[in-house]
Amino acid sequence: MVDKFTVGNVEIGAVLDMIPPPRDPRDFFPEVTKEDWTPYESDVLVNGQFQLYCGHFFVRSQGKTIMVDTGMGPGPHATRGNRTGNLINQLAAKGIRPEDVDMVVHTHLHADHVGWNLDLSKATPRPNFPNARYLVPRDDWDHFTRPENLSNAPWVRDSVVPLEALGLMDFFGNGYSITNEVTTLATPGHTPGHVVVLVSSQGQRAMIVGDVLHSKVQVQQPSWCAAADTNKSDSMRSREDLLRRAETQDYIVAAGHFPLDAHVGRVVARNGRRYWQPL
Ligand SMILES: [Zn+2]
Repeated sequence: MVDKFTVGNVEIGAVLDMIPPPRDPRDFFPEVTKEDWTPYESDVLVNGQFQLYCGHFFVRSQGKTIMVDTGMGPGPHATRGNRTGNLINQLAAKGIRPEDVDMVVHTHLHADHVGWNLDLSKATPRPNFPNARYLVPRDDWDHFTRPENLSNAPWVRDSVVPLEALGLMDFFGNGYSITNEVTTLATPGHTPGHVVVLVSSQGQRAMIVGDVLHSKVQVQQPSWCAAADTNKSDSMRSREDLLRRAETQDYIVAAGHFPLDAHVGRVVARNGRRYWQPL
C-alpha cells in the first residue's frame, strides 16, 4: 500500500475505510461476459470474484487538510456483509484528528463516499469533522435530492441532506479551486455530478479519480461500466478522456477502489495499448 506520496509541495495520504465482501464480476459489470473476462481473469479476479476496496485519500495543500470522500461510515453495514468502517481510526493512525480536516470534498454522493460525514448516533446529527466545510457536487445534489431518487438513497437523506440545515455545505462543480494547487474536473457518468480531484504543484500532477475507475481492467477496457453508473455512455467518455489525460500528461493516479498494493499508479501506453503501472 502506498501510504503517502508527494506532488510538488502537496502531500497525499491513503486510508482504508473497509474491504467489502467480494462479488460476482457479472453483478458489478453486468454487460461484461465471462468470455470478455478471460484475458484478465488471473490478473484481476480473485477465485473468480471481483474484490472492491473502500480506500480514500486526504490531501495537504497550502496549510489545508482536505479529505476526499468519507467512506461507508461506522456500520455495521447490512449491505456489505455487516462489515464496519474504519476511516477515523485510520486517519488517527496517520496523525490526523477529525478537527484537523478543513474541507471534505465529495467526488459524488454514493453510500461508500459519504458515510463518515455525520455522527448519527445521537438524536441530532453532528459533523464528524467539526471544523470542515463539506463540498458537494451541485449536479449530484440536484439528482439525489429529487424525491424519487432520495427514497432510494437513504445515505443521502442521513449523511448529506442534514449538512444544509447545519450550514456546513458548499456546492461546487467543474474547475473549482479548492486551493491554488487543488482543483476539480467534471467527469459525469457514474453519477451526474461526479468530479475528479486534480493536484498540480511544482510541475508535478496527480488525480484522485473517485469512481471513474473501479478496477485496473478499465484502463485497458474503458467501455466496461459498473452497474451503478447512472449514464453509461457518459461514464465511458469520462473514463476515456481521463485515461488519455493521465497518460499524456504524466499524472500519478489515486484510485481508492483498487487493491491496496496497486491503488496508486500511472497510466502508461505500450504498443498502442494502455496499462496500469502501480507506483
Ligand atoms: Zn465508490
